[in-house]
Amino acid sequence: MKKFTQSSIFIKLLIIQFLAIVYTCHGFDFFYFWPGSLCDAKRACCLPTSGKPATDFGIHGLWPTFNNGSYPANCNANSPFDGSKISDLTKELQVDWPSLTCPSTNSSKFWTHEWVKHGTCSESVLDQHAYFEANLNLKHSINLLGVLQLAGIQPNGKVYSLQSVRGAIKAGTGYTPVIECNLDASNNSQLYQVYLCVDKSGSKLIECPVLPKRKCASFIEFPSF
Ligand code: 5GP
Repeated sequence: MKKFTQSSIFIKLLIIQFLAIVYTCHGFDFFYFWPGSLCDAKRACCLPTSGKPATDFGIHGLWPTFNNGSYPANCNANSPFDGSKISDLTKELQVDWPSLTCPSTNSSKFWTHEWVKHGTCSESVLDQHAYFEANLNLKHSINLLGVLQLAGIQPNGKVYSLQSVRGAIKAGTGYTPVIECNLDASNNSQLYQVYLCVDKSGSKLIECPVLPKRKCASFIEFPSF
């Protein structure tokens, strides 16, 4: 009987260990969105109260993600978004992390949503200030628009092959992106979101362990903004 109990505990331990390996957080998925595509869709966009953002990708968020592609959400109800903790970053956030949904806001509702839903799940690694700072640092160091422009891919309403967009980002960053498209008012596929992965420290790009399936036509528009 004792022997049976011991071996069953051993099996349980093995199972727990196995689950821990499979579901280890690999790091983060990092999303950028193209404001032009949000504004060139059927649903209207609204400029933030801070004014029209520069012609550049905006940050969507940094999402802690498991190796199987799923992600935890809303991890700590006791850690609300606190603007006073990131007051030194507010100006930069308004430029690099604008919200373009309607009605117009000062964008802090979007930052609150991303912190509460995603940021709180990696709080042991990145506290609130570090989370927003990591997002900004990544955006500046990756310079997605510059990488695309270097390959002659411009936000000018022209159509580019999906392969050339993916190739330009891979060549410029060293890592394979996932490209997501939305539809413009005439149902043309257009570049909407670019998805890259970073390590657990939130600072270094890595190859995504799983590439989520996102829909795009083989030729996509890059709308102006
Ligand atoms: P998530 O995809 O991170 O769970 O949530 C994104 C949510 O943020 C959307 O449901 C949307 O309501 C809100 N949001 C506010 N501003 C923006 C914006 O400019 N772009 C995107 N993609 N979402 C925004």
